[in-house]
Amino acid sequence: MKLIYEGKSKKVYDIGDGKVFLEFKDEVTAFNAQFKAEFKGKGYYCFKISSLLFKLLKDNGIPTHFIEEDTNGFKAYMVRIIPVEVVVRNIATGSIVKRLGINKGYEFNPPLVEYFYKSDELGDPLVCKSHIIRFGWMREEEIDRVESLALEATYILTDFFSKKSLKLVDIKYEFGYTEDGRLVIADEISPDTFRVWTSEGESLDKDVFRNTQRDITEVYKRLHEILSS
Ligand code: 5GP
Repeated sequence: MKLIYEGKSKKVYDIGDGKVFLEFKDEVTAFNAQFKAEFKGKGYYCFKISSLLFKLLKDNGIPTHFIEEDTNGFKAYMVRIIPVEVVVRNIATGSIVKRLGINKGYEFNPPLVEYFYKSDELGDPLVCKSHIIRFGWMREEEIDRVESLALEATYILTDFFSKKSLKLVDIKYEFGYTEDGRLVIADEISPDTFRVWTSEGESLDKDVFRNTQRDITEVYKRLHEILSS
């Protein structure tokens, strides 16, 4: 296997035939790598939760890069990542509260979609559709397709979580094109990339690390148990 990319939380290997293997690392970073730590087993739970949720989306007709689980990672289609992160919010918290002064806990109905330019140097700034079109990151019709897929996926995940008495607060998606030109949801879908609250308002996601820097493996394990039960 040839390592073709190493990011903050994953390694990507080319396994040929337009496919990759995604290995999940135990490292965690927050606030643009201001805080860094390594927690044994954290990568395993991100992998298991991602696999479970990608399967759920696939079973509901959402195109994703996921192919199948392997040991400590999954096989996926090789994609050309679109440099725009798509965030869907059901409930206000995090950056939108700081940026716009919206009350934490405010419910968006329908969910709110925001776009961020993927750039570590710039700290993933918020961008609008006119930036995306003008700078050639996506055409207008691609934005429409991405937005409707992100909303559809969020409805499916929100419904699944609510059956487990969990609230999906917000979620970040990455999109890409496979070698045969299909637009798919890529990257991972894990408590590193979404926020989830119990009915008591307890966070079962990376906010635990963002707020306290404590070990998140037990929290991710608990979330995995709830989601897979
Ligand atoms: P916020 O904009 O409030 O910081 O994040 C909104 C949602 O998107 C949260 O669930 C957060 O975890 C996720 N998110 C936003 N940007 C990133 C990112 O660069 N990396 C990861 N892993 N998640 C992100």
